[in-house]
Amino acid sequence: MDHAIELILSARHMVALTGAGISTEAGIPDFRGPHGMWQDASLMEVLSAPSFRRDPAAFYSAGLKLLGNIGHAQPTLAHQLLAKLEERGRLDAVITQNIDGLHQAAGSRTVYELHGNYRTGHCTRCNTKYEMGAFYEEIESGRLRVPLCSRCRGTIKPDIVLFQDLLPMDAWEASRRAAGQCDLMLVLGSSLVVYPAAGLPQIALDRGAALVIVNLEDTYYDEWANVTVHAKLDDFARAALARL
Ligand code: ZN
Repeated sequence: MDHAIELILSARHMVALTGAGISTEAGIPDFRGPHGMWQDASLMEVLSAPSFRRDPAAFYSAGLKLLGNIGHAQPTLAHQLLAKLEERGRLDAVITQNIDGLHQAAGSRTVYELHGNYRTGHCTRCNTKYEMGAFYEEIESGRLRVPLCSRCRGTIKPDIVLFQDLLPMDAWEASRRAAGQCDLMLVLGSSLVVYPAAGLPQIALDRGAALVIVNLEDTYYDEWANVTVHAKLDDFARAALARL
């Protein structure tokens, strides 16, 4: 852990890549992990792009059971660590596979959300943008089944990347660029299994950047990392914050 923190403190252009593990400590379930909800085939079906088009009401009722949790979660020490590193001018960007918005809640400003986010949405017909919070509350209280566009009555979809959806290209391009320019990539709470995010450490390594991985379980990149720390992110962040 000390070695990892030394590397972080000497980096000038760090990029962080975060996955579900950074938010499980905030009480948000890991959708893809070994016991994740996305192992549930029927839920995966409901949360896929084709079934959203077919039955958005089923998506909103199932999806909100998951999102209810997200709406009340607070950023963890690891989220705070990344915000502080950015504030100090040491960290250029956070790339995240999470949709929960906890990086922004912690104060991070440059955040690339590879799987989108649940806070905003858009009309699937005319592309008008919406804040989703008020819709979620109405759906939860039973007053609304599917949010509709006030301009064209089209179905509004949250900006979440569903199964069989395309990745948001702007977030992906920005992530690739950031990975190619960093001097250290800090991976927090991702097992680096889901592509294309899992390809980003390779881009950083190819450019000569250092790689530091903090994750409870092994990852595919462990043997190429300068340091791998198998620890709780809270413990790691507490130690790193104490040194800042
Ligand atoms: Zn519309």
